[in-house]
Amino acid sequence: MTYDFDLFVIGAGSGGVRAARFAASYGARVAIAESRYLGGTCVNVGCVPKKLLVYGAHYAEDFGQAQGYGWTLDGATFDWATLIANKDKEIKRLNVIYQNLLVDSGVTLLQAHARIFDAHSVEVDGKRYTAKHILIATGGWPFVPEIPGREHAISSNEVFYLERLPRRVIVVGGGYIAVEFASIFNGCGAQTTQLYRGELFMRGFDGSLRDHLKDEMIKKGIDLQFNADIARIDKLPDGSLRATLEDGRTMEADCILYATGRRPMLDGLGLDAVTVELDDKGYVKVDDRYQTSEPSILAIGDVTGGVQLTPVALAEGMAVARRLFKPEEYRPVDYRLIPTAVFSLPNLATVGLTEEEARREVGQVRVYESRFRPMKLTMTDSLERSLMKLVVCAKTDRVLGCHMAGPDAGEIMQGLAVALKAGATKQLFDETIGIHPTAAEEFVTMR
Ligand code: FAD
Ligand code: NDP
Repeated sequence: MTYDFDLFVIGAGSGGVRAARFAASYGARVAIAESRYLGGTCVNVGCVPKKLLVYGAHYAEDFGQAQGYGWTLDGATFDWATLIANKDKEIKRLNVIYQNLLVDSGVTLLQAHARIFDAHSVEVDGKRYTAKHILIATGGWPFVPEIPGREHAISSNEVFYLERLPRRVIVVGGGYIAVEFASIFNGCGAQTTQLYRGELFMRGFDGSLRDHLKDEMIKKGIDLQFNADIARIDKLPDGSLRATLEDGRTMEADCILYATGRRPMLDGLGLDAVTVELDDKGYVKVDDRYQTSEPSILAIGDVTGGVQLTPVALAEGMAVARRLFKPEEYRPVDYRLIPTAVFSLPNLATVGLTEEEARREVGQVRVYESRFRPMKLTMTDSLERSLMKLVVCAKTDRVLGCHMAGPDAGEIMQGLAVALKAGATKQLFDETIGIHPTAAEEFVTMR
């Protein structure tokens, strides 16, 4: 049987674009369909615009701190609309780059919704295309719980396009997006409340980091409330919103952002036409080679419910392209020791086991912790402190986890992830000469 394409990719996000480009570079005939925006979540409503907004929000602190260094910054003002317009311009530039990357690699780009018709064909804009392999890379979508008045709340999809900076914001959730956006809004000058349903936010991160971030966010002026959740939202006659909490309290705000997790994007995908199985949370089930239960259909990235990070989707896209079209270069993705950063203010970053996990897994651990005022802040009024932590196996001396809260935590953690992957021991950290004066040197001087 001859097919129109060797590979048909559905979704031009982080994973789909990577798989399509590399498959084409290996000589495969590849098509990709994208219904919304080239580059997917990460480029349009995720990592990239989020980081630009975090940069924007941080200027408030920078201006305050600059005075300690002799600068006078009278009359600094902030304009949200300018930040959003410039962000939009940058995202449009990236959309074009993604388009060129695909077209220049010889990938057939179809900018419309795709629906699986059968195990070897996909329908786009009323036209049917056949393919030997179909790759589902349709990502995820924000989840907002069903509460009365839910239609008055926004999700991370809309927050990037707010025309005005709300005067009062409530952020609901206690994960990545919630702490990042609470920090953005607070930095930009909105009166910010964050509500989290549990005892302490950032579940899954090291306990010291979670406590530290809580203290620092409170110091920066965020009204952080734990064991708190919204029961209903009402729109008031003046257009503002009233949130009634489960404990009966009420709060008013101009914007309520839900950052309560994401669900797989399967809308109109046509999975009923094939035998692709879903897991109990609705994610596409795949084996360790990204194969679904339908032999010709694969899936990667957020839609499979694994670790929802862009570099993971990229690695999976690459692995699929190699496995199908360059098997001699195929290597399975190594899911151990995935480093991650949270771009809250202050930033968090981590690789390896938390202290709690390490104690469970290896029993005896040695913990090294350093809390200090970053040098740059010593001549300022800022009370912000940084935290660095190493978790070491007492028996083998191997470093099991590195954790940091403070400026540039993500930049610092990337290199440490290489050290941990190489199996570095604490002795090796100790024998490494520091770079002075930096914050990063603390990681090799903690005793
Ligand atoms: P996506 O990037 O979501 O791409 C899926 C694409 O498929 C979309 O473009 C969608 O329009 C398209 N699509 C869906 N259905 C169809 C269809 N039927 N036909 C055609 N096209 C379709 N990760 C990080 O590593 N670092 C970060 O700092 C970070 N920040 C984030 C901030 C936010 C606010 C969010 C929401 C996520 C963030 N992430 C971050 C996570 C990261 O964006 C995702 O893990 C990553 O984008 C997943 O890539 P993907 O290819 O699986 O899916
Ligand atoms: P997360 O899974 O990180 O956090 C979801 C939060 O919402 C949790 O605190 C959860 O609480 C809470 N929650 C879930 N359901 C409800 C509910 N019904 N009512 C109230 N609270 C609820 O999801 P995000 O949406 O923040 O982000 C999605 C994913 O995107 C992240 O997990 C991450 O993989 C990726 N991402 C990565 C970023 C980065 O790399 N910097 C930045 C942003 C996103 P509980 O803990 O109690 O379950």
